[in-house]
Amino acid sequence: MPKRTDAFLNLHRREESCGQVHIQGQNVDYRLTRSARRSISLRIADHGLSVGAPFNASVEQVEAMLHQNGEWVLQKLALWQDQKRAAMLVEGSEISWLGEPCRLRRASGRRSRFHDGVLELYLADGQDFAEAFVRFCKSRARPLFLERLAYYAARLGVAMPPLMLSSARSRWGSCSAKGEIRLSWRLMHFPPALIDYVVAHELAHLEEMNHSSRFWAVVERLYPGWLAARNELRRLAATLPRLD
Ligand SMILES: [Zn+2]
Repeated sequence: MPKRTDAFLNLHRREESCGQVHIQGQNVDYRLTRSARRSISLRIADHGLSVGAPFNASVEQVEAMLHQNGEWVLQKLALWQDQKRAAMLVEGSEISWLGEPCRLRRASGRRSRFHDGVLELYLADGQDFAEAFVRFCKSRARPLFLERLAYYAARLGVAMPPLMLSSARSRWGSCSAKGEIRLSWRLMHFPPALIDYVVAHELAHLEEMNHSSRFWAVVERLYPGWLAARNELRRLAATLPRLD
């Protein structure tokens, strides 16, 4: 085979294997992917701990890296496990709805509704609780976001911007140069006051398309005490279930 083809194949070659290390008394499984890369990297993927390494890295080198970063690995895996547990929604699961803990129950009729700490979800054919919950979030998110946008747009003295829903996990909102606002339906997990902060923040971008002190002054005018809301949003973000 000509050399160039070899080089090309090497570039795209990947070797997968599995391993296990012991960190602070815990068995930690990992998936190792060797490829044409220069250094060893660690990340938490959907299946758990994933290690990327060059072909010439030894298993000892890989495991030394895991031990050096033991604290990080255990912390991230614990968080991943929490999120995985939380993402498995079943009858009776607890979930945060507009900042309030509630239990999931299957609705007897074809209507989903929230009342007295219970979220009754209508499960269409083949639909599980997670899918039904996401659909419910989306259906309730739009009217709520529109109402809050209208409220803050009036306070700011701007026209009502177009709204789009997104599924972003940490970028709760965005405002495009055209003045379109995107808000994540995942905000429906959070207390209304935090949703208001995101709405006020994005609307403030209609006046200041940056995060300058002038921008934050607009936010302060619309939503006094925004800093506490921003911190709380960051804290809660880590507790969200990984729903798709
Ligand atoms: Zn911003």
